[in-house]
Formats: sequence, structure tokens, C-alpha cells
Amino acid sequence: MTDATVDGGHSEAAEPGATAPGATASQVRLPPVVAAEHHAAVAAFRESYADLPAGAPVRLAKRTSNLFRFREPAPRAGSRRAAQGPATPPGLDASAFTSVLHVDPAARAAVVGGMTTYEDLADATLRHGLMPLVVPQLKTITLGGAVTGLGIESTSLRNGLPHESVTAMEILTGDGSVVTATAEGEHADLFHGFPNSYGTLGYALSLTIELEPVAPFVHLRHFRYNSPQDCMAAIAQIAAEGSLHGYRADFVDGTAFGLDEIYLTVGAFSDVAPWRSDYTGQQIYYRSVRGPREDFLTIRDYLWRWDTDWFWCSRPFGVQQPVVRRLWPRRYRRSDVYRSLVAFDRRHHLSDTLDANRGRPPREAVIQDVEIPVDRGAEFLRFFAADVGMSPVWLCPLRLRSDTSWPLYPLRPGEVYVNFGFWGTVPLPPGRRDGYHNRLVETEVAALGGSKGLYSTSFYSEEDFWATYNGPAYARLKRAYDGGGRLSGLYEKCVRGS
Ligand SMILES: Cc1cc2nc3c(=O)[nH]c(=O)nc-3n(C[C@H](O)[C@H](O)[C@H](O)COP(=O)(O)OP(=O)(O)OC[C@H]3O[C@@H](n4cnc5c(N)ncnc54)[C@H](O)[C@@H]3O)c2cc1C
Repeated sequence: MTDATVDGGHSEAAEPGATAPGATASQVRLPPVVAAEHHAAVAAFRESYADLPAGAPVRLAKRTSNLFRFREPAPRAGSRRAAQGPATPPGLDASAFTSVLHVDPAARAAVVGGMTTYEDLADATLRHGLMPLVVPQLKTITLGGAVTGLGIESTSLRNGLPHESVTAMEILTGDGSVVTATAEGEHADLFHGFPNSYGTLGYALSLTIELEPVAPFVHLRHFRYNSPQDCMAAIAQIAAEGSLHGYRADFVDGTAFGLDEIYLTVGAFSDVAPWRSDYTGQQIYYRSVRGPREDFLTIRDYLWRWDTDWFWCSRPFGVQQPVVRRLWPRRYRRSDVYRSLVAFDRRHHLSDTLDANRGRPPREAVIQDVEIPVDRGAEFLRFFAADVGMSPVWLCPLRLRSDTSWPLYPLRPGEVYVNFGFWGTVPLPPGRRDGYHNRLVETEVAALGGSKGLYSTSFYSEEDFWATYNGPAYARLKRAYDGGGRLSGLYEKCVRGS
């Protein structure tokens, strides 16, 4: 994708957090050697796709995933396991698209392989004093995954969602073509329909993204609220003013330990740090929000503050206990390691069997991220405490960056939402089946005018699903870019898990 256009323009003042001046469009060109290698990789990927047996389901063979729908990993095409007739079909080898192709500091833009992890992407851009406008918290989330699956982070009130700072995508579509999709080009419909399509229209092989300047440190301040209403009012105030109690809000997120103990963490870029905390060692970030009120992190440590303990989800592995933590190697304090352990447990039903043997009630995994309009956020937290009863809950305010709406995910331009993230299990009440709590959440989210991300389990009827996620627009895109139905449909993938 040597001719990708970036609507960024050159930076005159590199103020941290300043949005890219949008007046002039500049071209980001790959260095010739990189371009040649990338073109060869695209051609090879396209051929592998064409060679897959007709009718066989298509999957990406990726080293990592942050989906919470578990299945047997797909062997690589051509591997011994694939030749032996696998339980799952071979996946497409995506390893040629796992690196940053080019960073253009003057244009504040980067061209990035679609399956590049944010860990690699952030490292490549921080070297130039820049970062992507939104960096999801888990190191192995990839750029393509966050765009097709809607990532979010604490810059999302300021910068919207990751797909809103993409200026071009090179996509292998379901029908086997490779196209470049931009906001206004020939494939503008695909560009706008790609977010929330979860790889069911095609795969992003490279993306051009905007970057913003950073400062070396983030100055954090934690504010406590004793009621959901007070917390939502503070979020609305930050959305209106860009600051809280006079403190600039370059970053905002929060942690609810209970209805009367909710923290908002407001971060500001800073050139200086009187001290720096380290939550990759013995200290644990999520506990730190309870105090002291002020903290400093390097920008890199800030970006990965949640990854070390997978928010708080490392707790069941015992690694939050000081003795175990000291023994647990630092290189394994990462979200992808914990996710692999959970995947193993799920595949082999270890915890379920243990619970059953001990006579405990079966538990339901309630692992979701939902977005609720800020003026209904307090209602959601009260519902969640009463009917699901899991804590902590992560809060992350967001607002679309521009007036553009994105057809497959129903967020209204201009409206402030709060993303609530909850990841754990709760006991099922007697007589209730798996899906009971998840269904309650889906119903409440709809009642409050919100929406739910699709990276985990979903229980919608087909009718409700398409009413929520714009069935007619999806059907048009599917016909245009995967007319032969080579890739799974969105409902099949996200609800039926096929
Ligand atoms: C516990 C938990 C917490 C989470 N917290 C956050 C959070 O705080 N912030 C956040 O942003 N997100 C969060 N997520 C969600 C995460 O961003 C999404 O699951 C995202 O889609 C994962 O991207 P991935 O790169 O790991 O992709 P994968 O998990 O590998 O794939 C996700 C889907 O995207 C498709 N896909 C992957 N790459 C491409 C591509 N290049 N082109 C087209 N389709 C592709 C795959 O086919 C698949 O359907 C969380 C998920 C979990 C499980």
C-alpha cells in the first residue's frame, strides 16, 4: 500500500496530546524495500486464501487472541496437524503482517501490518515521541483486531475509538480481492462497515493511522466517588471541560469496587515526574487507585498499566499474593499468559469439574464490555450490582471523535458514553442455565440505549441481533465483498461461535 493517503498533515507544534493538524493531506510512502516485501507478502496471502478448499471455514492463524469465545486452535496450512485431518480447519498464516512497516514522524502517521500487536506498535512510535491516538490496554491486541473488533482506552473521550484514526486500510475481502479502503474512496462503504465486522468481510493486511505526540510521563490523579450519580456527573463535566478540578484530562478511566467506592483516574501528559511508580513488580496497579491520590508513570508503563495483571483478572492464579508474585517470573506477568491459562481451563473444563466435585453451583462467565450513555450509567451500575454482583468493574468514558457514524455499531455522534468492562464468573441461581446473567445484561443495555461489544459470548436472537447491529447495512456489505459467503457471517461468528 505505497500510496496510502493520510489526512494528517505536518506538525508545527508537537504539543503532547495535540490532535494532528488536519488541514493538509500528506502521502505516507513506504520505503521501496519495505513496499516490495509487503507486496510480495500480500500476493502470497491472497494465493493461500485462494488455495483453501472451497466450502471449508476460513480462519486466521494468529499467535495471540483476545477473543473470549474458545475453540481448538487452528493449525497452520501445510503443517503436520493440518495434514492429519484436524478437528478445526487450517488457518491462514498472518505472520507476514505482524510488524510496523513505516513511521513518518513529520506526518504523524504510521503504516502498520494488520496483525501487529499494540505492544510492537507503541514501541515503534514511542521511539519518535508519538503514540497511536488510542492504545488498547492489552499488549497483544492487534491493530486489525481493535479496528474490526472496536478497541477502547482512556484517551477515548478525547480521541474516540481506534478505527477513527485510521485513514486507509488494505483489505483482503471475502471474495479474494485486495482493495484499499478510505473514508471517501471507491470502497468507502467497506471502510465504514469494517469496524464491528470481526473479520467477516475481509482481513486488514495493513492500515495507515494517525499518531499524536506524547510527553515522557503521565501524571495521574485518582478521585473517589461515593455514588454512581456523582461519578457520572464528574464524567459529564470532564467531557464538557476537558479537565476535572482544574486538572487536564488527557486520559480518563475508572474503577468501581462497589456502588459507594468508585474512582476516576485522570491522567495528564507531563515532562517531569518527581517519582515514578512501577506496577510490573510487586505493586499492583488496580489497588493503587485507592490511594495515594497522586501518581506518576512513564508513558510506556502507563499504556500497559492494566496488562501486567490483566486488569485484576490475574487474581485467581494467586499471583497477587506477595509470595507467589515474587516467584512468578516477571516475563509471565502479562495478559496473554493469563488468557492462555484461562483458555486451557475452559477447553479442559477444569474449574467446572472441580466446582461440581465440591458440590458448588455451576458458574457463568460474564465477560463483556458495554457502552451506556453517561446519563444512564448510574442506572446500569445499580442494575449490575443487584443482578450480577461482580466487582471490580472498569469504567472508560468515550465519545465518537467526529460526526461520522459507523453503520455496524450504533454509537451516536456527540453523545458521551461510559464503557463498563467486567470479566469474571458468577454462580448461577438454582434452575438457571448458562447465559442467564449475560442475557440480563443484553436486555438492560438495550433498555438503557447502549450497545455491547461482540468479542465475547452473545445470546441475542437473530432478529434482535440484526435490529441492534444494522442487519440491512451488513447484508449489503456482505453481498458486495463476500458474495460467495466464503467467510462466516457476523451472527454465526459472534453468537453461534461458528
Ligand atoms: C478480558 C478482556 C478485556 C478486554 N479489554 C479491552 C480493553 O480494555 N480495551 C480494548 O480495546 N479491548 C478490550 N478487549 C477486546 C479486544 O479489543 C477485542 O477482543 C479485539 O478484537 C481483540 O483483538 P485481537 O487483535 O486480539 O484479535 P483476535 O482476538 O485475534 O481476533 C478478534 C476478531 O477480529 C478478527 N481479526 C483479527 N485481526 C483481524 C484483521 N487484521 N482484519 C480483520 N479481522 C481481524 C478475528 O477474525 C476475530 O474475529 C478485551 C477483551 C477481553 C477478553
